[in-house]
Amino acid sequence: MQISTKLSQLQQRIEQACAKVGRNPQQVQLLLATKTVKPQLIKQAFACGQTLIGENRIQEVIQKHAQLANSDYQQHFIGHLQTNKVKDLLRYNINCLQSLDRMRLAQRLHNRLEYEDKTIDVFLQFNTSYEASKYGMAPENALQFAKQVAEFERINIKGLMTIGLFSAEKQQVRQCFQRLKQIQNQLLDAGINATELSMGMSGDFEIAIAEGATIIRVGSAIFGERPHPDSYYWNEN
Ligand SMILES: *Cc1c(COP(=O)(O)O)cnc(C)c1O
Repeated sequence: MQISTKLSQLQQRIEQACAKVGRNPQQVQLLLATKTVKPQLIKQAFACGQTLIGENRIQEVIQKHAQLANSDYQQHFIGHLQTNKVKDLLRYNINCLQSLDRMRLAQRLHNRLEYEDKTIDVFLQFNTSYEASKYGMAPENALQFAKQVAEFERINIKGLMTIGLFSAEKQQVRQCFQRLKQIQNQLLDAGINATELSMGMSGDFEIAIAEGATIIRVGSAIFGERPHPDSYYWNEN
């Protein structure tokens, strides 16, 4: 099936999910998770009007950079970032780091931003499913973490990100997204302007939309299945 067909089917599902809970579909932005996807295919999505992609590995960002150079798009980083890759992150025009999940990374990022006289937008990533296999700050430490990150002048906290539990138990998946929303409320009360909620993937974006997602990250529903399970792509190495 063509990318354009997949995209319009997805758009319909997004609209239905929004209609169910009385939300405006314009409030839900689609980020295409493009790990393992060839630039050729990504460009087809651009030709259909898509403008936002997310990569998990710096290596892939670098590999695709030249071939996408003539396209007009935004790129977020959504994978686990090693501290020694911060320099690369800044070099390749990443518009937003969605996976800021620890102070050491924030500190390193800030130092490099100072050195290069730049700023960056970030989302704070939380491990709302409490699975050991997933990255993300523990929800219990949300306020303290956010306050510490907010002190770095060059790092702008735009929102929060999470990966929901992989489970057929919809209620448990929903709880993850509700936790992220609760964290958001806590931060907003503390004056931290984390207005975006990046949550929901191919298997659970409808639930995420119902719980307030403003960005959903969709890969396989558009580009097909990947050769490895997701955990394989979450590590830099
Ligand atoms: C791969 C990935 C997605 C998209 O996953 P699909 O199930 O293919 O839609 C979203 N977010 C992150 C962090 C990912 O690694």
